[in-house]
Amino acid sequence: MFDTIVIGAGYAGLVLAERLASQQNEQVLVIEQRRHIGGNAYDRFDTNGVLIHEYGPHIFHTRSKEVWDYLSLFTNWHYYEHKVLAKVDGKEVPIPFNLNTIEEVFTPALAHRMQQKLVDLLGYNVKVPILKLKEQDDEDLKFLANYVYEKVFLNYTLKQWGIGPEELDPTVTARVPVYISRDDRYFQDEYQGLPKFGYTEMFKAMSDHPNIHMLMNTRYQDIMDIGEEGNRLFGQFFEGKIIYTGMIDELFGFCFGELPYRSLRFEYDTYDTEYKQSVGQLNSPNSYDFTRITEFKHLTGQQHPKTTLAREYPQAYRSGENTAYYPIIAEENQKRYKQYKKRAATLHNVHLVGRLAEYKYYNMDAVVATALKLYAKLQHK
Ligand SMILES: Cc1cc2nc3c(=O)[nH]c(=O)nc-3n(C[C@H](O)[C@H](O)[C@H](O)COP(=O)(O)OP(=O)(O)OC[C@H]3O[C@@H](n4cnc5c(N)ncnc54)[C@H](O)[C@@H]3O)c2cc1C
Repeated sequence: MFDTIVIGAGYAGLVLAERLASQQNEQVLVIEQRRHIGGNAYDRFDTNGVLIHEYGPHIFHTRSKEVWDYLSLFTNWHYYEHKVLAKVDGKEVPIPFNLNTIEEVFTPALAHRMQQKLVDLLGYNVKVPILKLKEQDDEDLKFLANYVYEKVFLNYTLKQWGIGPEELDPTVTARVPVYISRDDRYFQDEYQGLPKFGYTEMFKAMSDHPNIHMLMNTRYQDIMDIGEEGNRLFGQFFEGKIIYTGMIDELFGFCFGELPYRSLRFEYDTYDTEYKQSVGQLNSPNSYDFTRITEFKHLTGQQHPKTTLAREYPQAYRSGENTAYYPIIAEENQKRYKQYKKRAATLHNVHLVGRLAEYKYYNMDAVVATALKLYAKLQHK
């Protein structure tokens, strides 16, 4: 009856379901364990009528015209460019650290010297990792690199990942940039925006096809068996394709052990005022236990007399108790992932895609691109 079963109704699952149903005329069954579609990009109106992101703020940005054009089939856009401030030494300053931030933080004479040296030695409109700045034979630039490391990066990262500085992978530090520019935007991608009526409405449009059949509130394990000896749906052999976007370790009963994730807890507050912050995101690197506060109306463009903000508290992931958010990238975990991946290759007609199935941090545009690539590959089989 079905040509394809898709497990998971997030980006990865819905892109595949939509393409297979609309372009190949396939009958697609989508199985989703949650009561809603959209995966972690799901948004909804809170009790005050403010549009919020249930699993943390999601800002869409991409360099890929293909991905932008594809999603534009299902939504118009609110053209939003993300801006972030961080509370540093009592001031709210633009992040990533750039030429404007330097002026706000340091005395005019020091700021001017640093700006001049950055431009002269490293060029304009370039992002320079702080490790590279430290390597410069110049005391002012070394001072700047250390300042950014201490005041913006270190404590934020410790809160985010819950580990000591000595355990931090140096490649993570290496990536923290100083942006030699006056551009205060967080992203420089050519295409930036949020779906005009929200992510959930966009996902509804994607799944609104007569060939797509949704089964919500259902864990695939309760109605399916997936294994080396074949796949079954309601006890009957299923010969069609399976697109699996759930956790790869769960697919094999965690036989090699659990793949670790970092989780988050959100605290929401609604205020009787139109706006509370001047930008969508305020980082708190050095104080409190939360990492950042998001004011959703900046992101969504919603007009509303009230406003809702979320404080974000990183925490350990505990299976069955909270949500798996970020894969923890460490050598040992990658090794374990590879064991699962090898086993997945022995399955019959099962295709793994998405952040949980590939144990990979994907931005939304990247997961759409990967899903479109898998779709193209399936056509050439
Ligand atoms: C806090 C946070 C903020 C983020 N912010 C951004 C951002 O600003 N910009 C950006 O580009 N990206 C952002 N991302 C990344 C974005 O969330 C992902 O790229 C995207 O959600 C990945 O989609 P997916 O389909 O792979 O996974 P998911 O969205 O997780 O979808 C997987 C789906 O499978 C379902 N499922 C799992 N197991 C089963 C099962 N056993 N049975 C049935 N169903 C199952 C799940 O319930 C889920 O709905 C953020 C991520 C996090 C965690």
